[in-house]
Amino acid sequence: MSTSAGAVGAVGETTQPCPQCGAEIRADGRFTVWCAGCDWNVDPGQPVAEHGKLERRRRRLTRRHGERLLGEVAAGETLRPRRDAAGIAAHLLALAVHGVTVALAVGAVWFLVTGWGGAGVVLGVFLAVLAWTLRPRFSELPDDRPLLGRADAPALFGLIDEVAAVVGTRGVDTVAVSAELNASVTTYGIRGRRLLTLGLPLWEILTPQERIAVLGHELGHYSNGDTRHGLIIGNALRSLSIWRYFVAPTPDPTLVEAFVNLVYLVPRSLLQGLLALLDRLTLRATQRAEYLADSMAARAGSTEAAASVMNRFLVLDSAETMLRREANAQQVGRGRRGTADREPWQGLWERLRAHMASIPETEYERQRRVAALRGHSVDATHPPTHLRRTCLLTGPPLSAAVTPDAGTESRISTELAAASRTVAQRIVKHGLAH
Ligand SMILES: [Zn+2]
Ligand SMILES: [Zn+2]
Repeated sequence: MSTSAGAVGAVGETTQPCPQCGAEIRADGRFTVWCAGCDWNVDPGQPVAEHGKLERRRRRLTRRHGERLLGEVAAGETLRPRRDAAGIAAHLLALAVHGVTVALAVGAVWFLVTGWGGAGVVLGVFLAVLAWTLRPRFSELPDDRPLLGRADAPALFGLIDEVAAVVGTRGVDTVAVSAELNASVTTYGIRGRRLLTLGLPLWEILTPQERIAVLGHELGHYSNGDTRHGLIIGNALRSLSIWRYFVAPTPDPTLVEAFVNLVYLVPRSLLQGLLALLDRLTLRATQRAEYLADSMAARAGSTEAAASVMNRFLVLDSAETMLRREANAQQVGRGRRGTADREPWQGLWERLRAHMASIPETEYERQRRVAALRGHSVDATHPPTHLRRTCLLTGPPLSAAVTPDAGTESRISTELAAASRTVAQRIVKHGLAH
């Protein structure tokens, strides 16, 4: 993880000449000093660790897909949730993987029932265990973070319902509050109930209108069927990884093991190929899904709010650095001392907001240039932020379908107060979890 903030220095501006072109540089000691004229020192972060050949190729493909989709949007095509040939192929491949698991289970039952004079029972049990290991899993509710149900947070769930209606889906069943600088949606349980995870550090630095945009993006993933798709593909990937584990080579093999390793070479390469293929096939659909979710963000919260969320994403590293600094200071005993009426975690969100508000425009601009240079993205699944932003700003700007009112906002923050305290305490005590 690279961090954008430089050394912890005095707050305040200094000026110095650019060592490359001599232009005057205004510098804020908390951030990287760089030159807007000639890009000197624009990206001093440690070079992204040398990725393997495969990873580099994947990144290149991601960027190419992103640029092509952007081209389509710019050409006036509206993004629609459709599966292209690659998406359908990925779906079929995943279903075939699950088909093998089903076949193993059926085989297990058949051997157990017919018995085959005892031998069938052994084979049946073996196949049953195999099928059980490979079975698709439904995730459970997390137990390491505060969870809110509809009754705990009626105003928040009301807002979620309102945004959900705008993007053409229903609301969620549970909201989890986490210490991440992110938000996400997933399903849990066999009935596909819906979980929205709100990372408090992100939520706290957003304006009410930006929060609606973020909700629009996340709920948009439901209306586009991304979570259902993700469940099928994700489980197939998992199943293939387990198969690969079964045929993994034994290290320091004996003669017999070396022979087995050799025999397994064929299925191993086949599985490796299937895993890579499935990933490659879903790459484009994933990108399309993100652009689509962004358009939902704009529809719910306005194009302006959705674009300003992208701006915040550019400087999230700085928020992370600030929170880490608070946690570290606390751990080495240099932090704010708790007093009778004030604990060290109190006011954490206010301090975070103040930090974000103090980030100079030059830092945003630097991050924009770094993003364009590196093809920066929030994570491996999202297209580069600068492409998402460009895509949003192509075409006529949308006004907000949902606008926050002060009453709802204050009720929501009351509903989140307990969870917010828990997360702040956790960050100060244990640092940022990943
Ligand atoms: Zn310069
Ligand atoms: Zn997304």
